Amino acid sequence: MAFDIEMIKKVYGTMAERVDKARELVGRPLTLSEKILYSHLWEGTPSQAFSRGKDYVDFAPDRVACQDATAQMALLQFMHAGKKTVAVPTTVHCDHLIQAKVGATTDLAVANSQSKEVFDFLSSVSNKYGIGFWKPGSGIIHQIVLENYAFPGGMMIGTDSHTVNAGGLGMLAIGVGGADAVDVMSGMSWELKFPKLIGVKLTGKLNGWTAPKDVILKVADILTVKGGTGAIVEYFGEGAINMSCTGKGTICNMGAEIGATTSTFGYDDSMRRYLAATGRQDVVDAADKVADYLTGDAEVYANPSQYFDELIEINLSELEPHINGPFTPDRGTPVSKMKEEATKNGWPLKVEWGLIGSCTNSSYEDMARAASIVEQAVAHGISPKAEFGINPGSEQIRYTIERDGIIATFEKMGTKVFTNACGPCIGQWDRAGADKEEKNTIVHSFNRNFSKRADGNPNTHAFVTSPEMVAALAISGDLSFNPITDTLLNDKGEAVKLNPPTGDELPKRGFDVEDAGFQAPAADGSDVQVAVSETSDRLQLLAPFDAWDGKNISGAKLLIKAFGKCTTDHISMAGPWLRFRGHLDNISNNMLIGAVNAYNQEANKVKNQLTGEYAAVPAVARAYKAAGVPSIVVGDQNYGEGSSREHAAMEPRFLGVKAVLVKSFARIHETNLKKQGMLALTFANEADYDKIKEDDTINFLDLTEFAPGKPLTLEFVHADGSKDIILANHTYNESQIGWFVAGSALNLIAANA
Ligand code: SF4
Repeated sequence: MAFDIEMIKKVYGTMAERVDKARELVGRPLTLSEKILYSHLWEGTPSQAFSRGKDYVDFAPDRVACQDATAQMALLQFMHAGKKTVAVPTTVHCDHLIQAKVGATTDLAVANSQSKEVFDFLSSVSNKYGIGFWKPGSGIIHQIVLENYAFPGGMMIGTDSHTVNAGGLGMLAIGVGGADAVDVMSGMSWELKFPKLIGVKLTGKLNGWTAPKDVILKVADILTVKGGTGAIVEYFGEGAINMSCTGKGTICNMGAEIGATTSTFGYDDSMRRYLAATGRQDVVDAADKVADYLTGDAEVYANPSQYFDELIEINLSELEPHINGPFTPDRGTPVSKMKEEATKNGWPLKVEWGLIGSCTNSSYEDMARAASIVEQAVAHGISPKAEFGINPGSEQIRYTIERDGIIATFEKMGTKVFTNACGPCIGQWDRAGADKEEKNTIVHSFNRNFSKRADGNPNTHAFVTSPEMVAALAISGDLSFNPITDTLLNDKGEAVKLNPPTGDELPKRGFDVEDAGFQAPAADGSDVQVAVSETSDRLQLLAPFDAWDGKNISGAKLLIKAFGKCTTDHISMAGPWLRFRGHLDNISNNMLIGAVNAYNQEANKVKNQLTGEYAAVPAVARAYKAAGVPSIVVGDQNYGEGSSREHAAMEPRFLGVKAVLVKSFARIHETNLKKQGMLALTFANEADYDKIKEDDTINFLDLTEFAPGKPLTLEFVHADGSKDIILANHTYNESQIGWFVAGSALNLIAANA
C-alpha cells in the first residue's frame, strides 16, 4: 500500500524553481494555495501569471482516488483508453455500498454478498491497470487517503466531493467527476478555473468543549453553502498551528459544504507528527527540505487582507461549540443558544440517535475524545437516553481503538459499532421505523444533513456537531443540553456535570492493524481478466461510441425541448438509479426523466414523431435509435448545472442524441458532452429557442466545415413545411473537434495509445 515516495520527491524536486518563477511572474508574495497551483501546471515551470476566478488552467495532479459508486463508470471508461496502466498513482475504495444495520460483521457480509459483482469488478480492473484497491471494510476513502497518500504541497483529484479532506495534510485535493478522473488516469491534463482565495485567520487556541469541527461549523454559518464557490479556503495563524492534523482534515472536509473548490493548511508540526505516526517519516524528511514552499509566504500571513479575495478571522479561544442544522449544514447555532432556537422553531428536543463517524470525524482523536465523555457517564452511573452508533474511519483506526479499549468504552453504553465505511452518512442506514416518517431528532458528526440523507425520513431533523458533542447530546437525550453549564441526573438521582473531553491526538502506542484491507495491483496486469458478467444488471462493459461519419447530420428529430431549469439531476436522476451507475444501458432509462417538456409542461412525456404518441423520454429516444433516426435535445439557460456526473452526457450519447442546443451551458456539463463526442451548441440568438416546434426535423447544413470559432447552421423544418435557419455557436477548439470526429475523447486517446 506504500505511498509513492519517489513521486513525492519528484514533486518537491521541482517546487522551488516553479514557485520562485511564479512569484516573479505574479510580482508579489504567494499564498500556499498559489504555490501548489503554480507548481502543478501541466506546462511545468510557469510562463505567465493567471487571473483568479477568470483563467482556465491545465494542471497535472499527482494522484487520483475513486470511491466505489463513482469508480464504476470511470473505470469502465478508462478501459477504453488503451493504456496498460494508469498514468498517475490511483486508488479505489469500497466504502459507499455498505449498509449499517446490525453491526460491522453482519453488515459487511451482507454487502459483500449483495454487491459482490461490483466489488469483484473494481478489484479485477484495479489489479489489471495498476490501481491500489481498498476492499470493503478497509475504511472510508478520505480517511485512508489521509493515512496513506496525502502529502504537504501535493495536488490530487478524487471522484467524491469530500476529497478535499486531504487539505488537512497541506494538499490541494479536489472533488471531480468521473470524466476528469479518466483524463488524468489516461495521462491527460486536468482543467480548472484558477480559483479565488479566501483566507481564514485562526487566532487563540481550542479549549474545553470546542473542537476543530466548530471552526468549520462557524465558517459555514458565516459563508453559507454557496459562500466558497470557486474559491480555495486557506487557513493560517497560531490557532491553525495549535490544532491536530486530523482536526485540520475535519475543517477541510466540510469545505465541500460551503461549495469551496478545496481548503488547505500550511505544513507544520501537527503534520510532521501525523506523517510519522502513520509510517511516513520519509515524507517528513523530504518535506522538511522544502518546508518554506509548503506554506504561505510570511508577508501574506502578516498582511492577509492584501493577498486574499476575502478574509475571515476566528478567535478559537472564544469559539463556542456549535450545532448546525436541521436540514442544512450552514445553519449554525452556538450550544448556549440551542434551547431558545429549538423551542422557537419547534425542533424536537428529544434526541433519538447519536452517530459518530464519516470521513469528517472518524480519526483516533475523534473517537478518543468522544469515548472520554462516555467513560464519564458510565463512571457516574448515567444511562444514555439515545441510541448510539459509530463508524470508524478505517480498519487501522478500528483495530487501534479496539486495542486501546476505546471500543470497549463505547460498548459499555450499548453503542453499535458499524462497518468502517460511510454507512448512515450516505443514507446506507437501515434504521428501524424510519419508514413511519415520524418527526424526530438525531445528532451526528457527519458533514451533510439534508432532508432524508441519513435514514430516508424527510422528518428526521439531523444536526451536525463534533463527536464529543454528539456523545454528550446522545447521553443526555436532549438537543438543548449544554454540557458547559448543565448537569445530568445519574441513577441515584444526583446531579452530575461532565468534564470537558480529553483524548490523545495520536495513539501513544502507535497505530496498529492486522489486515488493513489493501490489495496491491499485479506487477504486470496484461493477463488479468476483468470480471463483468454479461447478464449483470448493474455492470456492463462499454462499447466505444461510433466515430463521426464525416457527413452533415440530417433528418434528426427533436427529442425534447426542455423548459426552465434542467440540472444533471433532471438529466440523470440519482436516488434508486445509483444502483445502475455501472450499467449504461440500464441507467439510460432515467435519461431526462426529470426535464420539463416545454410543450406540455410535463416531465417525462414527449411526442414520438414516428408514431405521434406521447411516451417517456428514454422510450422515445430508444424508438428513434432503433429506427436509425438521430435526435437532438434543446434546452434553456445554464443547462446541465449541478454535479459533474458524466452519466448526464453518456446517456444521451448512448441513446442516439447527436446534439444538445441550449441558451447556455453549465461549463462542466458542456465539456462532458464534448468528451463523449456530442455537439454541445448554444443559440447565437437566444430568442430562436421560441422558434423550435414540437414536430421539427433538423438538418445540419455545414457540419462538414466544423471549425473553431465558426458557428454551425441548422435548418429546422416544421410540420407545415416552413423552415427556420438557426445559427448555433460552439466553444470547440481543434483538439475538441478531434474528440467529436473520433466519437469521444477516449476513442482519440485509444487511437493514439
Ligand atoms: Fe461521502 Fe459521507 Fe462517505 Fe464521507 S463518509 S465519503 S461524506 S458518504
